[in-house]
Amino acid sequence: MAKTLLSKSTYVQGLQCQKLLWFRYNAKDQLQQPGSLAQAIFDQGHAVGDWAKRRFPDGLEIGVGTKDFDKVIAETQRQLALRKPLFEPAFRAAGGYARLDILNPVDEDAWDIIEVKSSTSVKEVYLEDVAFQAHVCTAAGLTIRRCHVLHINSKYVRQGEIDPQALFTQVDVTRQVSTLSAEIEDRMSAFARVIGAAEHPVVNIGPHCNSPYECPLTHVCWSFLPEHNVTTLYRGTKKAFQLLAQGITAIADIPATAKLSKVQQIQRSAILATQAQTDPAQIRAFLGRLQYPLHYLDFETMGSAVPLFDGSRPFEQIPFQFSLHVVRQPGAEPEHHSFLAEGREDPRPRFMAALTEHIGPVGTIIAYNAPFERGVLNGCAQVLPQHAAWVKSLPPRIVDLLEPFRKFHCYHPAQHGSASIKVVLPAFTGKDYSSLAIGEGGTASLEFVRVTFSDVSTEERAKVRQHLEEYCQLDTLAMVWLTDKLHELAG
Ligand code: SF4
Repeated sequence: MAKTLLSKSTYVQGLQCQKLLWFRYNAKDQLQQPGSLAQAIFDQGHAVGDWAKRRFPDGLEIGVGTKDFDKVIAETQRQLALRKPLFEPAFRAAGGYARLDILNPVDEDAWDIIEVKSSTSVKEVYLEDVAFQAHVCTAAGLTIRRCHVLHINSKYVRQGEIDPQALFTQVDVTRQVSTLSAEIEDRMSAFARVIGAAEHPVVNIGPHCNSPYECPLTHVCWSFLPEHNVTTLYRGTKKAFQLLAQGITAIADIPATAKLSKVQQIQRSAILATQAQTDPAQIRAFLGRLQYPLHYLDFETMGSAVPLFDGSRPFEQIPFQFSLHVVRQPGAEPEHHSFLAEGREDPRPRFMAALTEHIGPVGTIIAYNAPFERGVLNGCAQVLPQHAAWVKSLPPRIVDLLEPFRKFHCYHPAQHGSASIKVVLPAFTGKDYSSLAIGEGGTASLEFVRVTFSDVSTEERAKVRQHLEEYCQLDTLAMVWLTDKLHELAG
């Protein structure tokens, strides 16, 4: 491939940041490789693409079994004459290379571009992506009639076999794409100059570093920032970049006259004092809401673009695991109960049966970021009406342990502006998740899906299930420890 040939993904990278574009072509080894979560999103995109193709039963797959794009382009040219829907055809023209999801024949000799996305709406960046494809196809001699984005229909509810017609929503974006297309040629020329330059362009860090995508070069560009830097200000992105523009990088250096929110002021005080800031009265008020027995509850869930079970929607969070620690009275040892789904059936009936068995009729239910657990319970109640009354009775009993941390009633400088339990736990107790094989919810979900829905050995499955038990159990034990800590801080 010629060095400056742009693909649709590098074109979009160039729109995000020209420094990123330069590195992509001149020092690719410095870009961070996608992690397992990014890979899972990528794989999901493939699965969604396969379902989209089923909407075109007479479609032809192009380039099967080859990564040689010259061959894919040649095959595309051969198949165009058949006037059938083409899956993943490729074109090269005007300094660009585009591999399309679906090219559909229309009228006498025209084509529609259909870009498949595993999201539930049309995002701005998709329009740029499609505009680039249309530009390359037109330059390659095709007549493009209309452009469409085919995205997941969030209202679709699976009943039986997946219905590829109902799973997707097709949106005509021809008008938006033609507005964007006027600028593509100039941009591509500008990008070619950037790529061909001896040095990368100087670009300051900014909100564009994680929009529309997390940039794989932040470990390079952001490395000059000190530990307690202004970008860690709680809900302070805009302010952070204003401060950086004034040459202020450290929170400790923010002048006293600068306008900070109440929680940002607490953040600065904690850093200047190099110790936690607490509001004992607020912590006491929070603890006063807890009624024994205390039920510390945490769910693990899975969600996929293509629903796995009857009665579920795309991306609906389906619970497959819970951990519950029950503390019956002050100072009592926590009792542990757990559930981890077995087999490939819908886990919700057994999940709810186990949960109702272990959560007693009285006492507070404590979750960390409780709206998530509430949402999952409401989803279960919809498909399992026998549990609806019980679920409806729970909200007055649910208390969110995130609250005192998110409101900064206690804040430790080691939180770096985050109230995530993974950060709060080590900051206040010195304990952490580092010894666990699974250390966060996204990985838990991926691993459960992997060992449940793909063929792995019995030993591998047993090992991962053990890791899942350890992980979920620590999430609720962490809540027990943090509540103990709050009692200490309340004085
Ligand atoms: S981290 Fe930001 S400034 Fe650096 S290359 Fe990425 S987008 Fe550009």
